[in-house]
Amino acid sequence: MIDAAGRVIDYMRISITDRCNLRCRYCMPDGITQVSMAEILTYEEIRKVCILAAELGIQKIKITGGEPLVRKGCADLIGMIKNISGITQVTMTTNGVLLQDNLEALKKAGLDGINISLDTLDREKYQELTGTDACETVRQAVAAAAESGIRTKVNTVLQSDGDKTEWKALITLAESLPVDVRFIELMPIGYGKENTGVSNLELLDEIRKVYPDIRKDSKIHGNGPAVYYQIPGFTGGIGFISAMHGKFCKNCNRIRLTSTGDLKPCLCYGDTYPLKDLLRNGTEEEIRKQIKRAIEQKPAAHCFEEPGAITEAHQMAQIGG
Ligand code: SAM
Ligand code: SF4
Repeated sequence: MIDAAGRVIDYMRISITDRCNLRCRYCMPDGITQVSMAEILTYEEIRKVCILAAELGIQKIKITGGEPLVRKGCADLIGMIKNISGITQVTMTTNGVLLQDNLEALKKAGLDGINISLDTLDREKYQELTGTDACETVRQAVAAAAESGIRTKVNTVLQSDGDKTEWKALITLAESLPVDVRFIELMPIGYGKENTGVSNLELLDEIRKVYPDIRKDSKIHGNGPAVYYQIPGFTGGIGFISAMHGKFCKNCNRIRLTSTGDLKPCLCYGDTYPLKDLLRNGTEEEIRKQIKRAIEQKPAAHCFEEPGAITEAHQMAQIGG
């Protein structure tokens, strides 16, 4: 479908749980966002939304959370969505802690891509940031995912009060492995409001000092707003997702479905188009109409630069990133 701003909306991110096995301090430090299972869409309900959304032009799905791999049967859901006519790509974003145990099942299910969130390669800093001593497990998961042949990316959110040289180690993952390392600017959503992130403009300047031959890469790497660079000799690319210092809204192609079945047209605003009651008591036509409404009403741009105008009150773990 085409929205009011003329953008083709063909991508839906689906949060399948708001639970998580980590406590990242900018996302879910206290873990208290959990709602009961009865409020969460069942896999059958998610499948139904995907079927109807595919009829309206959604082709690509990202499974997210909370942590998607803490919900039992996640790989089965991916297989179910892969079989839907019109869906061309199913990818997932994960913190990677449970990835190695699930990799084979995910591959069998036909997963097209994995984004692994990893903000530091320092064991102590990782524990401080996430509440868990799992840095090495996630590092190994990145290598295993890349080796499995599933397209793998590492997503990093740097914070201004963190170690400003963290990127140096993270970037080397793209040197030795066929993975893209992407830097996502911290957004003022949920606990992200309590800190400031690192500007990707400043980060690129820092990277350039060490790698003066870094060049913009015109090759398309994915579905999203990332701008990619290539460093000579590196296997993977370096991506920048600059929500704060590189407004990409005119190319936004996505809607989001929360774990409780609310369609969200834009990350920045609290407006949602609820589907759960329609899935449980309504008709397919009513669901189709609600999806259409969400796409038609998608705001032209976010307002992160104007903090008072942000109306989203949920945590990122509820929305799915
Ligand atoms: N648990 C999974 C993971 O960590 O990849 C999926 C859900 S998590 C909410 C998805 C992504 O959102 C992660 O890469 C995380 O770093 C990012 N994220 C969380 N809060 C954020 C914020 N305020 N600004 C930018 N990214 C954020
Ligand atoms: Fe969990 Fe992902 Fe949020 Fe970290 S960023 S707390 S792993 S949902």
